[in-house]
Amino acid sequence: MAPENNAPDLQGEAPQVLDARILIVDDNHANLAVLAEFLDMEGFTQVTTESDSRHAVARWQEQPFDLLLLDIRMPHMNGHEVMAALKATLKADDYLPCIVLTAQTDRETRQAALAAGAIDFITKPFDFEETLKRINTALNTRLLHQQKRNQLSDFRQRLAEQASELQEKEHNLAFLATHDSVTGLLNRRALTERLRSQIMAQSEAFSCALVEVTDSDQLLLIEGVESVDFFLRTVSTRLKMIMDDHFGICGVWGGQTFLCALPFAGEAAGSVFDRLAKAVFAPVDDFDVVVTLHGRGGYSSVRPKEVETQQAIDATVRRAGFALASQHKRSNLVVEFNQIMEDTALRRNLLERELALAMAQEPTQFFLQFQPKVDLTHETIVGGEALLRWQHPELGFISPVDFIPIAEEKGQIEALGLIVIEHALQFVRQMQAELGRAVPIAVNVSGVQLELMQAKGQSFVAEIQRLLSQYAVAPSLLELEITESALMIGFDWVIDTLHQLRAMDVSVALDDFGTGYSSFAYIQNLPISTLKIDRAFVDNAANSPRQAALLGAIVRMALDLGLTTVAEGVETLEDIMLLRQFNCPIAQGYYYSRPLMPDDFIALLRQPSCAPAVS
Ligand code: C2E
Ligand code: CA
Ligand code: CA
Repeated sequence: MAPENNAPDLQGEAPQVLDARILIVDDNHANLAVLAEFLDMEGFTQVTTESDSRHAVARWQEQPFDLLLLDIRMPHMNGHEVMAALKATLKADDYLPCIVLTAQTDRETRQAALAAGAIDFITKPFDFEETLKRINTALNTRLLHQQKRNQLSDFRQRLAEQASELQEKEHNLAFLATHDSVTGLLNRRALTERLRSQIMAQSEAFSCALVEVTDSDQLLLIEGVESVDFFLRTVSTRLKMIMDDHFGICGVWGGQTFLCALPFAGEAAGSVFDRLAKAVFAPVDDFDVVVTLHGRGGYSSVRPKEVETQQAIDATVRRAGFALASQHKRSNLVVEFNQIMEDTALRRNLLERELALAMAQEPTQFFLQFQPKVDLTHETIVGGEALLRWQHPELGFISPVDFIPIAEEKGQIEALGLIVIEHALQFVRQMQAELGRAVPIAVNVSGVQLELMQAKGQSFVAEIQRLLSQYAVAPSLLELEITESALMIGFDWVIDTLHQLRAMDVSVALDDFGTGYSSFAYIQNLPISTLKIDRAFVDNAANSPRQAALLGAIVRMALDLGLTTVAEGVETLEDIMLLRQFNCPIAQGYYYSRPLMPDDFIALLRQPSCAPAVS
């Protein structure tokens, strides 16, 4: 296919000379006619003639021609004047493609024409061969020039496009450097900057809240990544609306945690953050199902005079973080910081570090105490519960209530749990060695420990079996105490594990009964041998008829199910009498004994009765 004349990318292609637009201007009609006819015969297709030079300028301006054949001597406007007028309209990169038609061949006339801008001459009368050559040369030059100009302008346009593309990209990059890509909110870096330049500059006091939304993991599993993004955008829209209302700023602090800052403190800030919590932790009904958002938050304010420094920002955000951490994952509140929150968090942090250190380097800081379980009829010891102790050289005694949850969270509970079982079995051996007999020892088993082993494909049952045979202890002398929440970790396989343990003749006790949701209907299908009634039930029973009735009912039903029943946390004689009245067979608590060192436990076992001397 023949390429178009002025197609910009056709470099080197011969321009279509015969299609060039040619304008002939001459006041002599005969000259016009002769020249036009000649060009027509030569195959030129777009030849225009004009006898009035004044119109020539107008015609050219309407649409420029590729070649002008111009007479010099004309009335009204001579050739020089026409050229001058046309040259005034040219762009900087253009020239006038003009050949002068003249009868004068003298040097002066030629000089004047060249000075006026002509590129060549054709002398009259016309020598057609020469005329054709000159026209062709001029046209070839002109068309090539046009082609180059087009290419150049095309090139310039592409350059301009690229430049604007680049600018857009730079803009995007700048945006991404300061914004979160999912929500479009400010990112952490930009937030800190804005806190200083906007919030602090604007006001004497300010407040920062950290708000964490906790449902997205679930959503990811159920609906996928898209919906998590949607969900985060929903949260950010809600946050931003409220912050905009109060001249605040907000952004993504990290993951699913957002930071919101207000340029004021006090009750006003508290009530804005209350509103914020209500708005954010509200249902989203854009899904097929309505999803309710949950989370937690904390805030802290900086009052006048404290504001000055960058440290003020860091300290405020940090305090907001402590306040957030003090909340349960789904409290749906944004609470104000107080010192206790910081102390608790720092203490926890200290314990985390010290626990790791002690487990790695100082295992002797851990030891077991044993608390007797007492038969209420004969007041003899029928068993003991192993309770883990941590004695730190500087921090002193640390309660298992404080460090067991840390060990669970940090994955140390698995090792710790097995050490406890091992030491408990060693203690059984010690009893046998020193007394010639032993009472069963109960060990607390964390659900997290079972979960960790299950996840690693390790068998808890096999581990118990291995330890029992290593210490040559009869399975019936070991009891495992497990809480209801542990069963919830993975009901089917946990139940299966318990069945296997029961089949081995290891006892299983359901610990802290009454604090969870267990009903008897549910308990009767559990592979357990013992029910431990939580201290909360025993505590008040002697003083509260209602509580007493409940305790009585629990004991009776447990007996009906054939379960051994142990009442925990028994502290007074009244408790004991009540339990006896309800036929509760076994009690454990300070009334009989605090948890004891192994030797003390053995000493107590040597006595015929463990009834308190004063009772
Ligand atoms: P738990 O299993 O319910 O243990 C009973 C807790 O009640 C023990 O607290 C015990 O000292 C305390 N206690 C016993 N009698 C009385 C009483 O008459 N009055 C009062 N007020 N308290 C009494 P401890 O030793 O601080 O243990 C607390 C919890 O820590 C245990 O609750 C158990 O959940 C956990 N724990 C202790 N040792 C271990 C362990 O070796 N492994 C695991 N996984 N958890 C353990
Ligand atoms: Ca227990
Ligand atoms: Ca308990």
